Amino acid sequence: MTSLVFARPAQPSLPVQGCEARFALRRVYCIGRNYPWPGDGGAVPEAPFYFMKPADAVCLAEGSIPYPPLTADFCHEIEWVVAIGRGGFSIAPEDALGHVWAYGVGLDLTRRDLQHAAKAAGRPWEGSKAFDACATCTPLRPVSEVGHPRRGAIWLSVNGVPRQQADLADLLHPVEQLISALSQSVTLQPGDLIYTGTPAGVGPLLPGDRISGGIAGVGQFELTVAAPTT
Ligand code: MN
Repeated sequence: MTSLVFARPAQPSLPVQGCEARFALRRVYCIGRNYPWPGDGGAVPEAPFYFMKPADAVCLAEGSIPYPPLTADFCHEIEWVVAIGRGGFSIAPEDALGHVWAYGVGLDLTRRDLQHAAKAAGRPWEGSKAFDACATCTPLRPVSEVGHPRRGAIWLSVNGVPRQQADLADLLHPVEQLISALSQSVTLQPGDLIYTGTPAGVGPLLPGDRISGGIAGVGQFELTVAAPTT
């Protein structure tokens, strides 16, 4: 057995609904936007683009999430999460769904002010998207139980007030296209998550806010935003 200088870090994982075994996380890919937004004018969608989050920053969507440092504009983005169970490179769209093992409901949490500053300076978004506890996900629902949803409401409310409301059928690039496009760029492997983009209505969160969200037929969650660590 390989000896390590430091103890092996804990393997990040998510629970699987109705199953003792957990889903070990490998990489977390996030697709930009991917729903029609007001002001788009029905424009032809650009090719899907992605960024990444650290796998050990994914938290189970329960209890509370910390208000992160260095921001005054901490934003929610609810997203349909695809969990890959079979790896592949250059996957054809017609084969893509065969690589999906489960689905979940996630939050792509964003320090929006840092993102705006990075864009304005022509710098990477990294600091706005990748930080401790920057993503949540519900327990995964295996394809063997929920199949491959084609439609279903995706919604998020803050303190009972609706913020984001759309339908999975509104995705500009459907899941098979996302998998196919992503796999032209990288080799997908079991344990990879794909956050598939967010509907319009993203907005700021404040300490003490109660977030509820879900996707019909996939899952739902409730979270509280904790006070910032001082
Ligand atoms: Mn997002």
